[in-house]
This record gives sequence, C-alpha cells and structure tokens, in this order.
Amino acid sequence: LEAKEEFSHKTLAMDVMRPRRNDPTLTVITQDSLTVADIEATITETTYSGFPVVVSRESQRLVGFVLRRDLIISIESARKKQDGIVSSSRIYFTEHTPPQPPTAPPSLKLRSIMDLSPFTITDQTPMEIVVDIFRKLGLRQCLVTHNGRLLGIITKKDVLKHIAQMANQDPDSILFN
Ligand code: ADP
Repeated sequence: LEAKEEFSHKTLAMDVMRPRRNDPTLTVITQDSLTVADIEATITETTYSGFPVVVSRESQRLVGFVLRRDLIISIESARKKQDGIVSSSRIYFTEHTPPQPPTAPPSLKLRSIMDLSPFTITDQTPMEIVVDIFRKLGLRQCLVTHNGRLLGIITKKDVLKHIAQMANQDPDSILFN
C-alpha cells in the first residue's frame, strides 16, 4: 500500500526518541564537574538504566555512556574501600584529572566504567533503519544527536513500542521475535 510506505518512511528517530518535545530534558552526567553527592542524587531521582556523559551541559558533546548499575557499584565500593571518598569528592570521567586544591577531598576516577563509543544516530534517521540497527547489532540503547550535539536516547523498549504501534496500523509488519 502506498500510504503505509509513506508513513513508515516519515517516522524519524526524533519522533521516537526521549525526551519528547515538552518533556524534561535528557538526564546527562558531565565529565568533570559533578560530585559523588550530585551523581548519587541523579541515581535516586531517576530510574533510567544509563546516562550519557557529556563534556558540559552547554556543549552537549557526547563523551560516553555509563550504566546506572555500574555507577552504583563503583560509588558504593569507593565509599567503602577508597580512602577519603566523601560526598563532596569530585567524579572524573576524563583521562586526566586536574590537580586538586590541598583542602579538597580525593577525587574518584570513573572513566573505566564508561562505554567510550556508544552507538549514535542523527535525529533525521528513518525509524526503519533504526529498527534494523537495533536488530542487527543487538543494541540496548542508542543516542540521538543533531549537528554533533546530544539530543536524546532511544532504548530497545522504545523501539519495541514503536514496532507495536506500527503493527496496529499495519498488521503485515514483522515483529521482533
Ligand atoms: P527502558 O526503556 O527499558 O524502560 P530506561 O528505564 O533506561 O529503559 O528508560 C525509560 C524511558 O526513559 C525510555 O523511554 C528512555 O528512552 C528514557 N530514558 C532513558 N535514559 C534516559 C535519560 N538518561 N534521560 C532521559 N530519558 C531517558
């Protein structure tokens, strides 16, 4: 059917990604400006499975992706085993950490738990292609950018919901197994 073809071509990554137009912004972690307390607050206040790591809020340049459970494990373990790690300790996802002022508590380096090359697509990518990529690469999530700036996220569940919606309109479409 002509109409179906047209419809499926028109759905783009930007139509499926979160946040939606009027939703609160994407929850991100900055690579070198947050404390242990800041990140613990993010973990408590949200339920997301992971967080994009960016250079800064202003730039929204993506540097990686960190899983919620890895953050929880690493912070808990550092608080217990690593000398001097307290709420005001700075967390770094950068390769190098700047020298700390003598009065500052030791910082916590978490670059090793970050995925340095999370899969990324642009907001204009047709959903047909996104579905294909998720299937073929077995992705759990994919980040969405526009002109190099991080814009949103699409999880496997978002893709499955999108497919289910398409299936309601188009009984012939093939579902994920
Ligand atoms: P799932 O989609 O499997 O429930 P999540 O709990 O991570 O996985 O995500 C729930 C919803 O929130 C999804 O629609 C997803 O697109 C969105 N989401 C995931 N991570 C973030 C984030 N860091 N900031 C804002 N929204 C997010």
